[in-house]
Amino acid sequence: MAISRARAFGAPGKYIQGPGEYENLETFASSYGDNTFYLIDSFLFDEIAARIQKIYASTASKYVTEPFRGECSYAEIERVTERVRTAGATVVVAMGGGKTLDTGKMVAMAMNIPLIIAPTSASTDAPCSAMSVIYTDDHQYIGCVFHKRNPDLVLVDTEMIAKAPLRMFRAGMGDALSTYYEALANERTDGVNYVGSGYRRTRASVAMAELAREILLEDGAKALRALACGAITEAVENVIEANILLGAQFENAGSSVAHAVHGALTALPATHKYLHGEKVAFGIVVQLVLENYPEAELAEAVKWLISLDLPVTLDQLDVEASEANISLLAEALAGEKSRARAVPMWITRRLLHDAIKAADRTGRDFRENFQGRAWPRGSEYGK
Ligand SMILES: [Zn+2]
Repeated sequence: MAISRARAFGAPGKYIQGPGEYENLETFASSYGDNTFYLIDSFLFDEIAARIQKIYASTASKYVTEPFRGECSYAEIERVTERVRTAGATVVVAMGGGKTLDTGKMVAMAMNIPLIIAPTSASTDAPCSAMSVIYTDDHQYIGCVFHKRNPDLVLVDTEMIAKAPLRMFRAGMGDALSTYYEALANERTDGVNYVGSGYRRTRASVAMAELAREILLEDGAKALRALACGAITEAVENVIEANILLGAQFENAGSSVAHAVHGALTALPATHKYLHGEKVAFGIVVQLVLENYPEAELAEAVKWLISLDLPVTLDQLDVEASEANISLLAEALAGEKSRARAVPMWITRRLLHDAIKAADRTGRDFRENFQGRAWPRGSEYGK
């Protein structure tokens, strides 16, 4: 139950998405500050830093580029904050994957300066949110930090997203689809969201989560076929919006079982090589089985996940469906503060255990009997 009757909604100040939008980086950054600090993913650093240099060549604007060292840890946050301070920068632009973006958020919030987020893949709903996930330097999860504001601008260059591996795009689709089922679970339980503390959802956030599902089911396969040949179509643009903007409604509508399953899976080292959205995909199957969704809706979601080659069984995440593993996952999900409790039913450890077991079996049965694949086979598209 929500602690308050009040509704709350958070969103980036502006959201802009389209092919070649990175060309406008200097224009946007200059409107927020006179000296811009670019924090860039290390493996894209040379390419992006060269591009920024070219964009700035014809201007008098000041800027600094800095490679991100790979982990959103307190040591890295401190290092980057110090670099921003030394440079005298007045606006931060974070460019890269989730960890780079989360570090940029921490630095800009600590210094109380404007923040522009420029994701280089559409693999999670991290870009729009007011949240950072913190790890130790050796990649152990510590926890989440909730910021007082969302990014001032989220700038998405579709051409950049289209160049990222398709696997990341597919994982982003799994992550975004979960938003719908998790929003519904929170609507049915009048659950709390992540805006402030104890607030509940707006009607708008649930409508956006529903739109995410609609787009993904309608345009998901079309988008992958287009991206497989490097084409940017309207379907691609729609799915990017679903993955990045609409998927971020987890913040406003609340999360539930699918993300709780993701969290539980991270305790098993074998799953570390799988992407966030891939683990969430199996979490969706668990949630639908637990909540006893109608067969038609269950089949629709599971077939869609299979058609995108997203995991619907434990073995697809390198986890044996053994009694020991299922019990371990159920134990993690049953905790008092677990988001797995954000469902409209009484939860017990046994119920969670059996939902995981039946979800794994459901995924297996559908995989054996449904071979439809919506995107091209071939190693260049695979894992
Ligand atoms: Zn997520």
